[in-house]
Amino acid sequence: MLQLDLQLNELQRVIKKSKARRFLLELPEGLKTDALIILHELEKTKKEFVLSIDTTFGACDIYETDLKKADCDAIIHFGHTKFVLQKIKQEVIYWPCYYTFDIEDVKKTVKDIENEFSKKKITIVGPIQYEKFILETIKELKKHKKLDIVLGKNTNRLNSTQILGCDCSSIQTIANKLDAIIYLGDGNFHFNALQTTEAYKYDFNGNFEIIVPIKKPKFNALFLESKVIGIYVSSKLGQNRIKIAEDIADKLKIIKKESVILYGNEINGNRLIGLGINFLINTACPRISDDYKNYYLPVIDYVEFLELYKLYYPKK
Ligand code: SF4
Repeated sequence: MLQLDLQLNELQRVIKKSKARRFLLELPEGLKTDALIILHELEKTKKEFVLSIDTTFGACDIYETDLKKADCDAIIHFGHTKFVLQKIKQEVIYWPCYYTFDIEDVKKTVKDIENEFSKKKITIVGPIQYEKFILETIKELKKHKKLDIVLGKNTNRLNSTQILGCDCSSIQTIANKLDAIIYLGDGNFHFNALQTTEAYKYDFNGNFEIIVPIKKPKFNALFLESKVIGIYVSSKLGQNRIKIAEDIADKLKIIKKESVILYGNEINGNRLIGLGINFLINTACPRISDDYKNYYLPVIDYVEFLELYKLYYPKK
């Protein structure tokens, strides 16, 4: 059975070696129930810790500007590998945590993949926590030679079998040459990033579920009618696109639409109530607009806005 290994003993060693006195602990939502266990273990290092209760959806959520205010001098970021490419002055310890497994788990997965995709050309991807399991599965599949395995590539953010909700560049050059992409992981957040490919999610029980395209409505007409447009900019370091937001605001001015740049750590429909805007352009995490049904106004990503702009205002 797959089990998440927090590797706290190893982390204690890393913490002891660090020059930092006090650490800001960032945990993904799924690990917050283990927060006290983690804290108690880490406190054995005789260092100090502060637990961030802000949301940490990805390694884009690095709260480096909060360090001083929380009287901390380093961050420990659980659940993800490095994402932010900007230089951060303070120390950041990324602690991805991997699933441990028995060889029987690998054998079962290999057998199921071979039964379903025999003689096909495939690759296998998943979130970072599954990396060791995926690599072992690939190793076994290669030995059996019952199907053709093509591997992705390491990029500046991803390892070869890793994908994020906003980044599948590890398999960008091979995706269209494959019969199938097998996703080993939980939930749909990362899996949905494989839209437009022939992707299948394995349920670790012998079943493969094909990806269901997210059908977002076209908001073209509502965009043309909109009077006041909000442009959301995230304060999260890895999602912050203020320059793009400013460029969008300039473009909207040219086509005589009023706009307002909305800045904040997190966005949802409730935060927009009463602002008087009737359309939203999102410059932050691209998965936000997947939840368009939770907003009371139309939401599009900035890339979609640029397409609309080109379509309706080609000469501007
Ligand atoms: S931008 Fe979104 S999808 Fe990308 S790492 Fe952050 S939370 Fe995940």
